Amino acid sequence: MTRRYNFCAGPAALPEPVLEQARDEMLDWHGAGLSIMEMSHRSPEIVGVAQRAEATLRDLMGIGDDYAVLFLQGGASTQFAAVPLNLLSEGGVADYVNTGQWSKKAIAEGKRFGNVNVAASSEDTRFTTIPARETWQLSASADYLHYTPNETIGGVEYFWVPETQAPLVVDMSSTILSRPVNVADYGVIYAGAQKNIGPAGLTLVIVRKDLLGKADARCPAMLDWKTAADNDSMYNTPPTYALYLAGLVFEWLKGQGGLDAMEVINRRKAEKLYAAIDGSAFYANPVELQSRSLMNIPFTLADANLDKAFLVESEAAGLLNLKGHRSVGGMRASIYNAVGEDAVDALIAFMQDFERRNG
Ligand SMILES: *Cc1c(COP(=O)(O)O)cnc(C)c1O
Repeated sequence: MTRRYNFCAGPAALPEPVLEQARDEMLDWHGAGLSIMEMSHRSPEIVGVAQRAEATLRDLMGIGDDYAVLFLQGGASTQFAAVPLNLLSEGGVADYVNTGQWSKKAIAEGKRFGNVNVAASSEDTRFTTIPARETWQLSASADYLHYTPNETIGGVEYFWVPETQAPLVVDMSSTILSRPVNVADYGVIYAGAQKNIGPAGLTLVIVRKDLLGKADARCPAMLDWKTAADNDSMYNTPPTYALYLAGLVFEWLKGQGGLDAMEVINRRKAEKLYAAIDGSAFYANPVELQSRSLMNIPFTLADANLDKAFLVESEAAGLLNLKGHRSVGGMRASIYNAVGEDAVDALIAFMQDFERRNG
């Protein structure tokens, strides 16, 4: 068996020790004589798995008791609708900042439910910047301000938290767990699991408890965060296997030294790759220096006619899923927590060799 380096934007690489443990426990989980997939979500085993996953996550992120942790389904995209359904009041307004394709989708969904004010946008720079806070045109009393701390497609990341009156609602799908955050800065943090948490099928929502119970009367029960909170995320059948795997990932992260340690590793990985890109006239990254993502690094080749050869040869060299998003072109390396420094080193070595042969 040869495992190759996976730079996929999502579903993304998972830590190998997690996959090995899941394999070892597949047929007979802890002597239960069953796979975890075959157990009732009401069983003490699964309830225990869910509780342990939540406790480990609370510890990793420093989540206080004034926040509910919800394990849901439907992906981050479902939360684009759940956010206004839970928080946007009749006649109220929600502020959004548009920094890329995921912001845009959240905005489009928000508009289906009420008044949306796009307070700032970086579309004029083709989403290679983050609009300075002073330029944001915020509403006088918005129900919330929504933004995307890391734009997975453009590779643009906030390294600051905006100060606002309104509660901050953030789509952290592609940056969560990559470095410490101060949870208390936010009203709601949500994320699809398939980038930095676990397999697809699980969605994490961390919501300040005073924001529960405000949902529109027509909000489906399945989208009402209070329903989930009141039922320990077991109002209906949760994605039990994905939850189990996420719990193993949380424990793996703790074993790595937690999010402080992950930040050191992730910064080192990203800095190396940006240095290789910047140090060459053959490769380029379009994002303003202070907003370059630690997780998703798009880069272009000086001659786009070489893109195809780059992809074919990198794949043959065991470096998978480097094709950039169609809206940006070129390449993209997603280097989430489970993508090791050895993978980044191998990518840089390949890039330098490719440049020598084609530059
Ligand atoms: C991947 C991604 C999404 C979409 O997530 P789904 O779980 O597929 O709905 C939304 N926002 C961001 C920032 C993402 O990276």
